[in-house]
Amino acid sequence: MRCPFCRHNDSRVVDSREADEGQAIRRRRSCSSCGKRFTTVEEPVLAVVKRSGVTEPFSREKVVRGVARACQGRPVDPDALAQLAHRVEETIRAAGTAEVPSQEVGMAILGPLRELDEVAYLRFASVYRNFSCVADFEAEIADLRAAARDGDVGGRVDTAGETPVGAADARDVPAARAGD
Ligand SMILES: [Zn+2]
Repeated sequence: MRCPFCRHNDSRVVDSREADEGQAIRRRRSCSSCGKRFTTVEEPVLAVVKRSGVTEPFSREKVVRGVARACQGRPVDPDALAQLAHRVEETIRAAGTAEVPSQEVGMAILGPLRELDEVAYLRFASVYRNFSCVADFEAEIADLRAAARDGDVGGRVDTAGETPVGAADARDVPAARAGD
């Protein structure tokens, strides 16, 4: 680990302790050249694999930005977006793999977004599922109507971390990936 003060590339660990309830390890280091001390944090990375094959760390902020775009002009407050991003992260982590395709992140967003705002959901879904014609929208809207009729809108209490996404949308996955 390179020293942030003199850029010497050797340092000695003088202290290690758990942080964030064991999610991370914080190390106190001492530069072996200038002797100054600095801290590093080590945590497991949840990587998102983009279509191009490039990986990047999962970011709740990025989820919020993406969803906020779909929510423009809609009555959705920032707290709800933050909560949605948290749920998405839980879903992704529950999948138990270290590398998640970006498409799956999009799919994990759809369920909670549908509960939050149907118009934003349609906008988002049209991008993530590659809607290519009006019929795609019609089918999705028919689904929303059917769900509303069945009273299938109050599932937000105990479905967090599970997959309302998987249950309702599994059949649509192949279509969404056809463009790959
Ligand atoms: Zn140094």
